[in-house]
Amino acid sequence: MQLSSIKDKKIYVIYTGGTIGMVKTDQGYAPKRGFLLDKIKTIKDFYHNGVPDFEINEYPKLIDSANIRPQDWIIIARDIIKNYNAYNGFVVLHGTDTLAYTASSLSFMLKNLNKPVICTGSQIPISELRSDAQDNILHSLILAADKRIQEVCIYFNKQLLRGNRAVKINSSGMDAFCSPNYPILGQVGIDIELNETYIRHVNKNATTEIEFNSLSVPKVAILSIFPGMDVSILNKILQPPLQGLILKTYGAGNIMNSDEIIDELIEASKRGVIIINCTQCLKGSVKMGAYEAGIGLVKAGVISGYDMTVEAALTKLFYLLSIPELAQNEIKEALQKDLRGEMTVS
Ligand code: ASP
Repeated sequence: MQLSSIKDKKIYVIYTGGTIGMVKTDQGYAPKRGFLLDKIKTIKDFYHNGVPDFEINEYPKLIDSANIRPQDWIIIARDIIKNYNAYNGFVVLHGTDTLAYTASSLSFMLKNLNKPVICTGSQIPISELRSDAQDNILHSLILAADKRIQEVCIYFNKQLLRGNRAVKINSSGMDAFCSPNYPILGQVGIDIELNETYIRHVNKNATTEIEFNSLSVPKVAILSIFPGMDVSILNKILQPPLQGLILKTYGAGNIMNSDEIIDELIEASKRGVIIINCTQCLKGSVKMGAYEAGIGLVKAGVISGYDMTVEAALTKLFYLLSIPELAQNEIKEALQKDLRGEMTVS
C-alpha cells in the first residue's frame, strides 16, 4: 500500500464498548463514555502520516459485548450503510466475547459489500499497561483503508481473519481468535501482508450496489449433544415455537444410535424446524453419512453445516429465517450454499 495516499482515506469507526475502552470500577471492568476517545487523542501514532483519517462514533450506551442483541447488530449494519459512500472503510470496536457473532451477522446483512469492515477489540483495556488496544486499533485503521479488502474481517493480535470464519478460543492469551477452517487473510509483521488469494471479491460488477438485509429474531437454539443425553431434553427444546436448531454433534457429524432421538428429530423436521448439523470439533467438516452413527440424521432431514462455525451457522439461520418469502426447503438449500465465504462445501 502506498503510504503517501493513505492520509486521503477516511475511516468511520463505530465504538460499541468492550474491554478495549473499559476502566476499573468497584464492580469490575466497565466501559466509560469518552474515555477511549480522549485516550486516542493523546497517542501521536494515530495521527501519523501512515494512518488514515478517521472519525469515531461512540455509541450512547457502551456495552460489555455479553449484552449484545441482534437489534444492536442491525444498528451497526445500518450505521455502516448510512455512511457507506462517505468513507473508504469501517472499523468496529467491540468486546471480544461476542465479536465473532457480530462479525458473522454483519457479513450476512451487508450484501455486495466492497469496502473493508474491520472488527476488533482487545484483551487488556487501553487504560492499562501492556494493552493490546492501541496496536489492534491502529492496524485495523490501516487495513480499513486497503481497498483490496471487500469483506467483514476480524483483526486481532497481528492477524486478519474472515469474520464469519473466526472463533474466540482464548480468554486470557493475546491470541483470542483463530480461523480454524479457513486460511488467515493477512499477517502483520515488519510488513503488512495480505493473503490476496483468500480474500473475497464478490462485487466484480461495479454497478452492483451494497444491499442491507435486516434481521428478525427467530426462535432458535443451540444444543451440544453428550453421552447420556436424555431424549426428554431434546423433546422439550424442539417444541414450538422453535424454528431452527443447531445440533452440535460428535466428530464428522455423528450422534448416538437412538431411535428415540432420531424420531424426535424426524417429528420436529416435519413440523418445519430446520436442524443444522455442526461439529463439536474446532477444526474439520461435517460429513453426513460417513459413519453409520450419522445416517439417522440424514433420515431425519437434518442438514449439514459443513465446516461452519456455530457463530456463522446461527447468524446465517437468523438471516435466512428473516426472509419472509423463503419456504422451509429454500432455507435448507440456502443454508447449504456458501453465501459469504462462511463455509467450504465439499
Ligand atoms: N466481556 C468483554 C466484552 O466482550 C470482553 C472483551 O472485550 O474482551 O465486552
